[in-house]
Amino acid sequence: MDQLARKTIRELTPYQSARRLGGCGDIWLNANESPFANEYNINCDRLNRYSTCQPAALIEAYADYAGVRPEQTLTSRGADEGIELLIRTFCEPNQDNILYCPPTYGMYSISAQTFDVGTKTVPLTEEWQLDLEGIRDNLDGVKLVFICSPNNPTGNLIKRQDIETLLDMTQGKALVVVDEAYIDFCPEATTANMLDQYPNLVVLRTLSKAFALAGLRCGFTLANPEVIDLLLKVIAPYPVPVPVTDIAVQALSPAGRARTKFQVLDTGANRAYLQAGLGMLKDVTVFEGYGNYLLVKFPDADALFNALWEHGIILRRSPIENCIRISIGNRDECEKTLAFIREQLGQN
Ligand SMILES: *Cc1c(COP(=O)(O)O)cnc(C)c1O
Repeated sequence: MDQLARKTIRELTPYQSARRLGGCGDIWLNANESPFANEYNINCDRLNRYSTCQPAALIEAYADYAGVRPEQTLTSRGADEGIELLIRTFCEPNQDNILYCPPTYGMYSISAQTFDVGTKTVPLTEEWQLDLEGIRDNLDGVKLVFICSPNNPTGNLIKRQDIETLLDMTQGKALVVVDEAYIDFCPEATTANMLDQYPNLVVLRTLSKAFALAGLRCGFTLANPEVIDLLLKVIAPYPVPVPVTDIAVQALSPAGRARTKFQVLDTGANRAYLQAGLGMLKDVTVFEGYGNYLLVKFPDADALFNALWEHGIILRRSPIENCIRISIGNRDECEKTLAFIREQLGQN
């Protein structure tokens, strides 16, 4: 069967999602999921009918939330499908490239590879900011530049001024895709308000993180109508299941938005708690994080990660040397995680 598959797929290492990596624990802080499981009403009256491709109620609700126009908004099966649609729409297989800046989210590269689109990398600087000169030198044959802010897994924001410089630099040549999966935790840092100014800006959003709906699979691509219209040529005819629209519209209602705001504040308080608690430990560095996770450097991350794993506390090992990414859970989960780490490091 292997021989029947495309060569690219035979050679591909799939995305190591938190789910795929397994583990058996009581405390899951490895996928940047929300600790809140909110309730929704589901209506089964219309399930005999196909959904609309881009349900107006959903598009209008998200456009209003994001402060953009409905014509600048596309919904898809998570932000991950947005990444895939952009690549399929703008990159010629075996010819064009995407560019991204590691360490960052893994799906840009995996998605490109599955469509035989090349990948160019220009690592972030030591401060985890854009290497603008490096990017300028590598733009040949690049159609999409992916920027993640707040960046996963490092947690920092990419400077707005640098994103503007990049948008100017790529004007007429490439799109700049700003992945804002975590922007709801720091909404003032969004670049969505630059869409009218930059025809080549694309912003990715999701309900998976702050809206606590990872299992719903609902994301958004914000861009100018010319870009949205091209993506609409590629997207599946019925990409959004009817119950997904129903739930997402409830999440984006005034009451849903108020609840999310409250939960974002709660997560921020728990992040501050964990940041302060871990920051007090000797030989431990906690990097400032703007999302619902913290990147933390330990003297021996592998040993600690494994001890936590054995103890039923499942975190995520990051590719950055001796760093572990910790999703912010509820207060109880943060307390247990901090207490166990203290004990392991002999600093309790
Ligand atoms: C979680 C995440 C996504 C994927 O979001 P979905 O809407 O669940 O597909 C995209 N980008 C980044 C940086 C993420 O962390």
